[in-house]
Amino acid sequence: MNILFMGPPGAGKGTQAEVIVGTFGIPHISTGDAFRLAIKQGTPVGLKAKEYIDQGLLVPDDVTVGIVRERLQQPDCEKGFLLDGFPRTLSQAEALEELLSEQGRSLDHVINLKVDRDKLLARLTGRRICRNCGTTYHVIFNPPKQEGVCDKCGGELYQRSDDNEESVGTRLDEYINKTAPLLKFYEVKGLLREVDGEQEIGTVSEEIVSLLRG
Ligand SMILES: [Zn+2]
Repeated sequence: MNILFMGPPGAGKGTQAEVIVGTFGIPHISTGDAFRLAIKQGTPVGLKAKEYIDQGLLVPDDVTVGIVRERLQQPDCEKGFLLDGFPRTLSQAEALEELLSEQGRSLDHVINLKVDRDKLLARLTGRRICRNCGTTYHVIFNPPKQEGVCDKCGGELYQRSDDNEESVGTRLDEYINKTAPLLKFYEVKGLLREVDGEQEIGTVSEEIVSLLRG
């Protein structure tokens, strides 16, 4: 089962990815992990990626595509994969299609976890971190017993500067603008499955699993 997982930051993709991986026994492939693995293994494309990263440069598309190609050829992907964080653009989506067809495969489902922008804002700006021990809390979903104080060590809780409404809003808008054409691309191909990510975590999981079981 070859799945592409999409959804904005804060939609709960990580949690749902774990459920899918556990249920279907396919690996969760995030581009970040794929990069780290290729660099660690010192593959040709991994070394190339490292050159860009070491210089603080943006890794070009062909290198990213190469990393994904290598990762999907690993033995654990034989039964399928859950791809997350790639593609991010239309040209990457086309490159993915090409590299899958090289391997005689194609995507079976594109799952988009949908959460309203305002709800995402509330989720993402509610995060608080302990200055002392780094434990994270959430003012709505996982509040500390006493406001502003860490349960574990009594340390002071703070909000990361990039968790404020303005920067989170900008991040969300960027995501929404960038991925809209991708969603359209997959919708036209009949692959797009939208799941309401505002439901309870367990309900979202059930919906995704039954959708994938078809
Ligand atoms: Zn603490």
